[in-house]
Amino acid sequence: MRKITADRVFPVASDPIEKGVVITDDTGRILAIETRDQHDPASLEIYSGVLIPGFINTHCHLELSHMKGQVDTGTGLIPFITSVVTKRGFPAEAIAEAIARAEQEMLDGGIVALGDISNAVDTFAIKSRGRMRYYTFVELFDFLQDAGSEKAFTDWKAVYDQLEPAPGSAKTMVPHAPYTVSPALFEKINAANPASGATISIHNQETPPEDELFLYGAGAFYDFYDRFGISLEQFQAPGQASIYYAMQHLNPAHRTLFVHNTLTTASDILSAQTWSPNTYWATCPNANLYIENRLPDYRAFLDTNARMTIGTDSLTSNWQLSVLEEMKTIARYQSYVPFSALLRWATLNGAQALGFDDTLGSLEVGKTPGVLLVEGLGPDERLTRETSVRRLI
Ligand SMILES: [Zn+2]
Repeated sequence: MRKITADRVFPVASDPIEKGVVITDDTGRILAIETRDQHDPASLEIYSGVLIPGFINTHCHLELSHMKGQVDTGTGLIPFITSVVTKRGFPAEAIAEAIARAEQEMLDGGIVALGDISNAVDTFAIKSRGRMRYYTFVELFDFLQDAGSEKAFTDWKAVYDQLEPAPGSAKTMVPHAPYTVSPALFEKINAANPASGATISIHNQETPPEDELFLYGAGAFYDFYDRFGISLEQFQAPGQASIYYAMQHLNPAHRTLFVHNTLTTASDILSAQTWSPNTYWATCPNANLYIENRLPDYRAFLDTNARMTIGTDSLTSNWQLSVLEEMKTIARYQSYVPFSALLRWATLNGAQALGFDDTLGSLEVGKTPGVLLVEGLGPDERLTRETSVRRLI
């Protein structure tokens, strides 16, 4: 048994406790949360700082870890994607080593579960070891070509079938983004997944040309597709932002995780929440700065009670894979977002988005959420450059 205490405990699902004590068994399962005056000080592990549950990272591409530092910052999404898809031919060993290093970095940084995009099988071996809970999203796209949907589906179904999730982990097939998935492919994805209750992730409203394509049938995606010899001639712009096309074709009976949302407005958020009560949002601020030099308007998400979660995206578009660093970035650029909100985004909301809140996301009796010590907070739990996190369980 361990009795861990610090200046404050943030259970997340309930109010903070001054000088709280988190009591766990040897497996990390929480037996009770009490206060220090109920215990002999000699029986306690005493820290200065705050205790929080383990982090949930809802968006990553672990399989792109080997491309750290290979793609320029600040170019915008379309040059970024072009660079990623044209850099090929890395040795398999380098890819595998980078994936293992990235997983270790996340474990050390307090991440206990990951929502991870897979286009290939490279991460499946490490995922089957079950060192954290993984929700693997095998991602499909056909460049908006109905005629290509059959081949896209068959190819990625073969990838999907090779993943044997470890106990507690899960997998689904998901659409990449509104601007790459035809209605026919959406239908095939829906038919392949369970009828309800799973998590479906989709990249959303990440770059101005994405909305331009759907609103006006114009913009830089036409050149992008042209360069790859793909015609958008049959594409009819629906005259609404891309998220409405996604909602039209996604199944609202699942948990839907919209990822990035740098251009999403309060009215888009409300529409999505009306469309499905199981709507979640993943923000990856460091990747947004890396790729597009822009951040979402977090005010819109706070004002609409949006269920925000935090992702790191991949090492191709980030300097590290740290949920704490994502929280610090938000706190630096939009400091009106309170610590309590960031903490909820980084833990319980993420666990709910992935359906992992049975064991993770909050310090509650019966859960095995991991216990993290956050040190170096400023007054009122303000995140500073010096704030760091240590994994205690
Ligand atoms: Zn992504």
